[in-house]
Amino acid sequence: MKSTDLLIIGAGPAGLMAAIRAADLGLQVTILESMPKPARKLGISGKGRGNLTNTDPFNTFLKHFNNEGRFLKSAFKAFFNTDLVEFFNKEGLPTVEERGGRVFVASGRAVEAVACLHKATERRRVQLVVNRPVTGLIVEKGQCLGAIAGGKPWLAAATLLATGGLSYPATGSTGDGLKFAQACGHEIVTPLPSLVALKTPEPIPEYLKDVALRNVSAELRVNGKKVAAEFGEMTFLDGNLSGPIIITLSRQAVPAVHAGHLCEIFVDLKPALDHAKLDRRILRDFEENHNARLDEVVAKLLPAGMRQFCLQQLGLSPSLKIAQVTAVQRRLLRNWLKELKFTITGSAPWEQAIVTAGGISTRQINPATMESKIVKNLYFAGEIIDIDADTGGYNLQAAFSTGWLAANSLKKE
Ligand SMILES: Cc1cc2nc3c(=O)[nH]c(=O)nc-3n(C[C@H](O)[C@H](O)[C@H](O)COP(=O)(O)OP(=O)(O)OC[C@H]3O[C@@H](n4cnc5c(N)ncnc54)[C@H](O)[C@@H]3O)c2cc1C
Repeated sequence: MKSTDLLIIGAGPAGLMAAIRAADLGLQVTILESMPKPARKLGISGKGRGNLTNTDPFNTFLKHFNNEGRFLKSAFKAFFNTDLVEFFNKEGLPTVEERGGRVFVASGRAVEAVACLHKATERRRVQLVVNRPVTGLIVEKGQCLGAIAGGKPWLAAATLLATGGLSYPATGSTGDGLKFAQACGHEIVTPLPSLVALKTPEPIPEYLKDVALRNVSAELRVNGKKVAAEFGEMTFLDGNLSGPIIITLSRQAVPAVHAGHLCEIFVDLKPALDHAKLDRRILRDFEENHNARLDEVVAKLLPAGMRQFCLQQLGLSPSLKIAQVTAVQRRLLRNWLKELKFTITGSAPWEQAIVTAGGISTRQINPATMESKIVKNLYFAGEIIDIDADTGGYNLQAAFSTGWLAANSLKKE
């Protein structure tokens, strides 16, 4: 059986970058990919626009990861955001920096990043075998010798497992690699969907599906204690809470629910006004529209859709005349606008999660090389590892950097 220097399992961003670096170092590389094409997830990333990285400085960048990115320091020191941008630009893919330091594919087409990486591997004579799902690793006496795919062994001096997490399984990331790692003794930190819409038992009416709440703030409370707050946009999707601020809060909400804690999100629809100011604003609106209907005045405070939801939740008739609204009802309205509560009981399914939190425990991976501490010649890169971050390009950079570092360490050895 012919052996190669490096066998990579999974042609996502982590696997492809590792292949490119290893080939540049003169190694012979084979990638086995279960899907008909490489990097499908990268092709749909950033709403199809490919948010490849972020220009945040080193320490700020790390803070966007679980455990403050401690495990990733060596990987980012070896290959960071400027290196990634330079790499893509040199390979013929222009990039552009947008709001919040987010770096995108300049054309706005993430699939061009996929094509760029694919071509880069072809130019370097990397062997990419598609439609070839790996079914297990070959591990003997604490050493990884390769993998099994298509019923036959693929032998290699080193093997890199870069099969991603469990989110968006239609892109090929089905969690296979986690099983392979577990089978040879690795601890798996329970995988949970992250960067995902949140489930609430409170009924979200169908008419809210097109409502986008802009410039609102949302506070996450766990067992009654504030743990995080975000300001920006939120939406309602398939009866769940969604939109950028909810997606960000999901990183803390999902593990809290999983641990059995009481998890609540309080939305402040008028964050620019404190209770007293909002009360004065409502009073003024009421005084100026004494003979109007309640729904007409609430329309000045809330976008369409939300008005109906507000009055329904408060049990107030839309046709109630302002003159008939009591002080108690006015206070209820004000409190609703400032502290709209949703209990959180879970998340949308894996099919809709942007990333996987959890994965192969970092305690069993050498952060300077990405090699397993318990199986020799076995390496890991990308989302399969217990690393996850906020939105903003951090997750892809982590995949590229860990892939790069794994390949780079092979040469040293
Ligand atoms: C909708 C969406 C949008 C996103 N947008 C962004 C963004 O803009 N910016 C950002 O930073 N992050 C984004 N992410 C997250 C980012 O795409 C992932 O973190 C990243 O793709 C992880 O790279 P990876 O190489 O580790 O794994 P993956 O990209 O998941 O690649 C793993 C590869 O392994 C293959 N594979 C799996 N099992 C096997 C097997 N048994 N045998 C052979 N091959 C196998 C899969 O088919 C796949 O090709 C987004 C994710 C999603 C779902």
